[in-house]
Amino acid sequence: MSNEAALAIDLGGTELRAALVDRDGKILAFAAVPTQAQAGPEVVIGQIEALAATIHAEAPALAILGVGVGAPGPLDPLAGIAVGPPTLAGWLDVPLADILERRLGLPVRLENDANAAALGEWRFGAGHGARSLVFVTVSTGIGGGVVVDGRILHARRGLAAEIGHMTITNEGERCICGVVGCFEAIASGTALGRRANAATSAFDGSTLRRLSANGEVTGRHVVDAARLQDDLALALLEEEARWLGVGFTNLLHLYSPDVLVVGGGIANGLDLMAPAIEATIRQRAMRAYRDVPVVQAQLGRHAGLIGAASLVLFADGTARLPVDGPSRYPGHEDGH
Ligand SMILES: [Zn+2]
Repeated sequence: MSNEAALAIDLGGTELRAALVDRDGKILAFAAVPTQAQAGPEVVIGQIEALAATIHAEAPALAILGVGVGAPGPLDPLAGIAVGPPTLAGWLDVPLADILERRLGLPVRLENDANAAALGEWRFGAGHGARSLVFVTVSTGIGGGVVVDGRILHARRGLAAEIGHMTITNEGERCICGVVGCFEAIASGTALGRRANAATSAFDGSTLRRLSANGEVTGRHVVDAARLQDDLALALLEEEARWLGVGFTNLLHLYSPDVLVVGGGIANGLDLMAPAIEATIRQRAMRAYRDVPVVQAQLGRHAGLIGAASLVLFADGTARLPVDGPSRYPGHEDGH
């Protein structure tokens, strides 16, 4: 029915966003506030309630079927528990889905934000029509999600597809997770920016430093400079593309998707990187895996919101499990 929608929440470490999304993946209303990430779960949950009220007031005639929440991992999507997101202070085993169900009076589904984005791109974006898809987001870090035969791959404790931390080399900078050689540590936008900074210096007259106003060069500056045919930026982007190609080859071998969708800030340079990515895949992938299209994501920053909504709008057979044992969320030990 056309007057039905889902309330989608994207709980980011810096921004808390909400939208009403219909069955066509269309955003009917949108609102965002800065996340009070240091204030603890009670304050942030209050922010979610307030945002839900604000956005519902924009479209009071809509029947809201439920709430889909995308949140940073690690989280348990089946139990609806935020296990311990590093970007949100004080969150430890918060039964977010249960709490929001009580406060909003609606069914709630919780999903890892990268999985939610994968789901959004699969249902309404660059992966529409595919049976299986791998979504990779390349920005500050590298994250992703895998849709296999029409469902998000969760596996044990919902922890599958931690794409950024697969080991692809034994050298380079130490990853945020503590080890050397993770995909994210060598191929994220941060890693690209680090190489660009090492290759230039402030006031050296390089295109990269001019674009950054002689400040810190970011991965996005490299993409922008490469568009201007800057030789150094083109070389840096080719190296980046080679590393992405290595990681993508692993993903093709592991998941055999119909399509590999690339999102995040660095995906804006995917057209420039495509020849080197494809050459690397041709060199490294076994023949049967070489013809999988690598395409740019289509939903931009709304992929996670639209995917979170689709958790509610389209039943996928994944029921939530009851939460075992007493809640460890402060103020909710009384049990219900
Ligand atoms: Zn790592």
